[in-house]
Amino acid sequence: MTTLLISQSNGAAHRTPQGHAERQERIEAAQKALSHPRFSTIQRETAAPGDLELAELVHSPAVMDIIRQVRPAEGIGQIDPDTFVSERSLEASATALGGVLRGIEAVVMGQADNAFLLSRPPGHHAERDRSMGFCLVNTIAIAARQAQRLFGAERVAIIDFDVHHGNGTQNIFESDPSVFYASSHQMPLYPGTGAPHETGVGNVVNTALKAGTGGDEMRMAYKERILPALDNFAPDLILVSAGFDAERRDPLAQLEWVGSDYAWLTGKLMDIAARRCSNRIVSMLEGGYDLGGLASGVSAHVGMLLTGEAGPDSQID
Ligand SMILES: [Zn+2]
Repeated sequence: MTTLLISQSNGAAHRTPQGHAERQERIEAAQKALSHPRFSTIQRETAAPGDLELAELVHSPAVMDIIRQVRPAEGIGQIDPDTFVSERSLEASATALGGVLRGIEAVVMGQADNAFLLSRPPGHHAERDRSMGFCLVNTIAIAARQAQRLFGAERVAIIDFDVHHGNGTQNIFESDPSVFYASSHQMPLYPGTGAPHETGVGNVVNTALKAGTGGDEMRMAYKERILPALDNFAPDLILVSAGFDAERRDPLAQLEWVGSDYAWLTGKLMDIAARRCSNRIVSMLEGGYDLGGLASGVSAHVGMLLTGEAGPDSQID
């Protein structure tokens, strides 16, 4: 596979308070993992800023208005108990958006088979009308809409394996049959949505995993529900909300996934992408708050995207 790794050079522009789980060190840990010789053949680019006016494709104007109102001239402002905006946060957000749009362009133009974007802040909790849960704008939702408008992808699938339910992405697309949204997440857990009976207009699949469960339960959920539904949707493009907070070491959740689970899951998505959409997968970082767990998950996920094979630490069936 030809894999494009897109990195954001200004992630540090988005600052959160001391001790906040969502911090720039996450990007540095993942970046270090991806500097291993195993990734020597990956194509590397630095993200350029995208146009945050595109946020209006999926958000009401109030979302950007509130971010701008709360954003201080200096320091860090607070949108909700978890969600912060610093003076230059929107620069980081714009670059995250530019990065994922570049990934989509690259796979649609055939410059790469798949792409991974390393960026922050995350986005999947941001709903149509509000920022929340560390997320200012819903980057992957904006990207899905832009993929339809600009890049001719009529049917876009978003697979969200972050340990938290992507309430924002579901909220934005739950009545739109041209976008498929599937999430696996720990439940009960923040934000509380994502029960299996939440199915949108038949375009949403939610699988709830119990605290303490590991890769076996995850694999069964994907084999039985998410993968058949994704295949049946026949996407033109697969986007991935790649959070690594289901990893066993993560401090914000209690699932027990390991690197080989991320490799397995990525391989299964690649099988469907090969059959349905000329391999086109664009994945972007969401959560993942233990630096070692994040590095392990990112290595397994991107290693599989690049080589089609699980890495040295990974067992795959
Ligand atoms: Zn998460």
